[in-house]
Amino acid sequence: MIARSASPRHSMSRRRRPSTPLARMRVRKSGLSYRRELRAEMIDAYGGKCECPHCDVTIPEFLTLEHKRKDGAEHRRRVGRNAQAQLLDLKRQGWPTEDHGLLCFNCNLGAGTGECPHNGIAAIAVAIPQDTLH
Ligand SMILES: [Zn+2]
Ligand SMILES: [Zn+2]
Repeated sequence: MIARSASPRHSMSRRRRPSTPLARMRVRKSGLSYRRELRAEMIDAYGGKCECPHCDVTIPEFLTLEHKRKDGAEHRRRVGRNAQAQLLDLKRQGWPTEDHGLLCFNCNLGAGTGECPHNGIAAIAVAIPQDTLH
């Protein structure tokens, strides 16, 4: 008697590839990288530098969009809370500079309380004669 090893006959495996390459692409395209791209474009369009004359922050991660007319809340109401939607709206308008600009986080925080603290520091620095600092 010859024992034949019973090999499974139905081994012609038709493995199905995951049918969602498109869905995966969509995930990659939207989300973080796209928002970063949009932000980079915004920073480029607005000069890539903090607008405060006493500051030269150019690090994109530190820069924020400034609403010069303090209409940030209004803008949010109009286009939604979504930061990406706000950027897209500005992009559609061709990055208007008359009421928007770049400020670093520090200066933006200062501007929110009236004027940038840099102005105060600059005033103090001018008030102290240079040779008393040595
Ligand atoms: Zn600044
Ligand atoms: Zn400043």
